[in-house]
Amino acid sequence: MKTIGLIGGMSWVSTLDYYRLLNEEVQRRLGGLHSARVILNSLDFAPLAEAQKTGEWDKVADILTNAAMALETAGAELLLIGTNTMHRVADTIQTRIRIPLVHIADVVGDATRDAGLQRVGLLGTRATMEQDFYAQRLAAKRLQILTPPATERERLDRLIFEELCRGVVTEAGRNLVLSLIRGLQQRGAQGVILGCTELGGVAPQQSPLVPLFDSARIHALKAVELAFLAYNQRKSKFSTRRRVAGQRHQTKT
Ligand code: GLU
Repeated sequence: MKTIGLIGGMSWVSTLDYYRLLNEEVQRRLGGLHSARVILNSLDFAPLAEAQKTGEWDKVADILTNAAMALETAGAELLLIGTNTMHRVADTIQTRIRIPLVHIADVVGDATRDAGLQRVGLLGTRATMEQDFYAQRLAAKRLQILTPPATERERLDRLIFEELCRGVVTEAGRNLVLSLIRGLQQRGAQGVILGCTELGGVAPQQSPLVPLFDSARIHALKAVELAFLAYNQRKSKFSTRRRVAGQRHQTKT
């Protein structure tokens, strides 16, 4: 099993979910007392959220790149950034590290396509819903994206930063998210991407409307799959080598 590096703290609320999901999935696969190999680099979100707001993406990129490099140096073998919005600087980070960055929009896009969907709603921060960095990745998977109208995007953004990222979940918040899902469905969305890592905590567990794609959950499970894939590949290479060596040994004797 490879060691997963996680840049967290954005917010700490969803980082808790990531940590739980990574461990639950490893335990499901291996049983017993097995748990995930994780190195967490949890950042202070306040200055990063501020830099996001003022559009200082270079500053965000610098801080996250340093965090990623520290994880690589510490022994992480693949990297997760535990937030959708911060993937705005994912390409910059990937150029500075050798380990693979598992891009959240790619894995969420794949899950949506695998479910046979073509037209999907996207909920997240204003940056995620309005800027190109996320939608372009989904469009590359031939997905057609719908987002709520501007006033509702604004309301959702406020809910994310003023409540969800601070660990506050209210009935009003739940109702807002449900009404946004319903609105997207009425406009033809076949499913809705919860493209903010805190939304899984406020969206209905079983959507009565359309399938929901929880980005944090999909991202964490994909990371474990990759951690095992690499392990299994190494293991089978190793056993092939041993088999070949064994055969050689037998021929000699
Ligand atoms: N965790 C949120 C996301 O998935 C919002 C926090 C942030 O702006 O990074 O986008």
